[in-house]
Formats: sequence, C-alpha cells, structure tokens
Amino acid sequence: MLKNLTVQILIAAVVAAFSARLFGDSSWLTAPTTFYDAILMIKVAFLAALKMLIAPMIFFSLISGISNIGNVIRLRRLGGVTVLYYLGTTGLAIVLGLIAVFWIHPWEAYPPALESSLVFSESRMIDPGSDSLIAILKQILVMAFANPFHALVNLNIIGIVTSAILLGLAMVITLKPDSPVFGTVRDLNQIIMTVLSWIIRLLPIGIFAIIFDFSLRLSISDEFSQDFLTQLLQFSILVTALTLFHGFVVLPLVAWLTTGQHPVRLVRSIAQPLLVAFSTSSSAATLPVSMKAAQEKLDVSQSVSSFVLPLGATMNMDGTALFEAVAAIFLAYLYGIELSTLMVITVFLMAMISSIGAPGMPTASMSGMQIVLLAVGIPLEAIAILLIIERPLDTFRTTVNVQGDLIGTLVVQHYLNRRDKRTPQSA
Ligand code: ASP
Repeated sequence: MLKNLTVQILIAAVVAAFSARLFGDSSWLTAPTTFYDAILMIKVAFLAALKMLIAPMIFFSLISGISNIGNVIRLRRLGGVTVLYYLGTTGLAIVLGLIAVFWIHPWEAYPPALESSLVFSESRMIDPGSDSLIAILKQILVMAFANPFHALVNLNIIGIVTSAILLGLAMVITLKPDSPVFGTVRDLNQIIMTVLSWIIRLLPIGIFAIIFDFSLRLSISDEFSQDFLTQLLQFSILVTALTLFHGFVVLPLVAWLTTGQHPVRLVRSIAQPLLVAFSTSSSAATLPVSMKAAQEKLDVSQSVSSFVLPLGATMNMDGTALFEAVAAIFLAYLYGIELSTLMVITVFLMAMISSIGAPGMPTASMSGMQIVLLAVGIPLEAIAILLIIERPLDTFRTTVNVQGDLIGTLVVQHYLNRRDKRTPQSA
C-alpha cells in the first residue's frame, strides 16, 4: 500500500501538517531557520518544475492531438462533428459547474481563509478593471497571434494554443500521412509526458514542503483550520456531485436525445472502461478497454472509434474542465479575489483550453490548472490546496472524461450513418 502514490501523498500531507504544528514556530516566517529555508527551497523548486512543463506540454499535446486526425478527407468527414461534440459537451460541463457554484457556493458560510495572510501579486492575463468587451477581445487577439517562440517563452497560453492549432492543421493539410514529422511530434509529446510523470512521482516530497509551509503560515487557531478543512470538504463534495451529475445525467441525456440510446443500457455497456478509468485515473491507459467496449458493446465502427477515442483521450475532458472551473472559483474565494463577469468568462475559456491541452494521465491537469489560476490572478501556490484532495477527485473526473469520449463515438457514428443514408454516394 505504501507504494501507492495516493497513499504516499496523503501521508506526506498529514505528516507535514502535524510536524509544522509540533515543531514549527511562527517566528520562522520573519527569521527563517536553515531547516525552514530548505523546506521553502523544495517548495519553490517543485512548483517551478510543475510550471516548467505548461508551455511545451500544451503545445506538443495539441499539435500531436490534431495531427492524429490524419488526412484531410477524414478530417472533413469526422473531424467537424467530433470537435463540435467535444467543445459542446465540455462547454456544457463548465457551464454546469459555474452555474452550480454561483448558486450553491457552500464555502461562503465561512470567511475567506487566506485573504489576509497569503495574497500574492501574480500577473493577470485579463485586467479585472477592464470592462469593455472590445478591449478584452483586442487584447486576446494580440496574444493569440504572437510569435510562437515568444508565446512559448513567456507562457502566453492563448498564443501557444493558437499557434499549436494552426501548425497542427497546416501539418495535416501539407504533409503526407507517412511523413516522419508526425512521428517526431508524437515522440516529443511522449518525452514531455515522461518528464511529467517523473515530476508527479515527486509529489509526496513537494506536497510535504508545500503543506508544511502552508500550515506554518496560517499559524492556525483550531477554529480557523477547522473552517478551512470544512470548506475544502464542501468543495470536494460539490465537485464530485457535479462531475457525477454531468457523467450520469447530462451526457446520457445528450446520447439519448441525439441517438435514442437508452441511458441505462448505455451505462451498462460502458461499465467496464468506466471502472478501469476510475481505478487508473488515466484516460490514456483506459484507451484499449474503451476501444473494445465501443466496438463490441456500442457497435461503433472501427474507423470511428479509432479516431474519436484516441483524440478524445487527449482533447476531450469534461470532468477535468468542470473541476478546473469550480476549483478556480473556490480558490478565488479563499484568497478573497473578486471575480468580474469577464474574469468568469476567462475562467470558462481557460478551463476549456487547459482541459484540451491536458494529457490523459493521473493528476495531469494540475499542471494546466495553473493557466486558469494565472488568468485571473490567483497565486500559483493555490495549487497546493488542490493537491491535498486531488487524487480521489481525479478518479471521478477521469471516469467522466472517458465516458464523454465513449458517448462521443456513439454520437459521431449516428451522425455519419444518417448522413450516409441521406447521401449514399458520399459514403
Ligand atoms: N487524470 C485525468 C485523465 O486521465 C486527467 C486529469 O484531469 O488530471 O483523464
């Protein structure tokens, strides 16, 4: 059991919180001891390592996702409806999260936990003061068409995403399907994933340092820490409930309305990949089981499933997008940051982009989550709060990510069948 990463993270968090309270001294905050300095060094290095991967990860993951699309003919037949489905359902998940969070926000019964003690000034992507839609649009367009190298170096996410999409599409259109460039991009993507998995292996150490510092900074009274833990629990319950609602009500409803597939039969047919996703927390690892279920249980053709599922495993993550949007609103509250309507729209867009860029691996979205935080000026340190409860929540969101891909195969297949029936010569 001790080899399990989730268990290691939990142990690290608990040991860190207790040792900060037992051995730590709040005077360290003004006059750090060597020990505390070392803890801070580990914390800063770990957060920097997570941040290091944002730009290359999103860039190569997107290019390789788009280049998976194959040739233009397939792109035209399948691509449009698939991408429309991905964007539609992901958008639906985020809207569901945002509506619920502004309607319920259970944690507002307690004051913002970190408002006075821990506010940092990070550069915001969108200025909270700006209220003109045209001004914001102009700002976004200028960022979108930045020099790709400049965008990568300066962590201009909108620029990175735009250039990755343009380059990916241009690759698909210009190069022959067997061009070595596709293989190279996929290899580069794999290499980045390997580095990410190393960083994730180091989570227990990073978490220890982050939670130690966190507990010390709060120098908490019992009442305060209890409030904070209650808020965290409320957030986890809300996210889990919303994720399950999206997975087991909204998505089956979409399938029912578009294809006529009965929700109960549908969920029964895909139970196996869902269980694998739940236990591995990885859409990518679940892919072979999803392929089998789509072809054998949902009667989806191989050409549709081998297109929609691998692409979806990297690009279509409803659970992840919902989690990131709700988490951003939660953290903004904890840090006492007021969000204007435009900032909420920014959260929507960034959650969408970050979920598209996140690879289908356990905890993978934590790196991309940072762009959502950066966009609205929440300190990157806030990631630490999410990391405490991240592992159990990942199981649910991965399940719903995979469910979204599987239902996508049904919807796309249904659309193609109907189109072929109407225009048999185009089949
Ligand atoms: N674990 C998720 C997946 O593989 C990604 C994430 O949200 O961290 O689908």
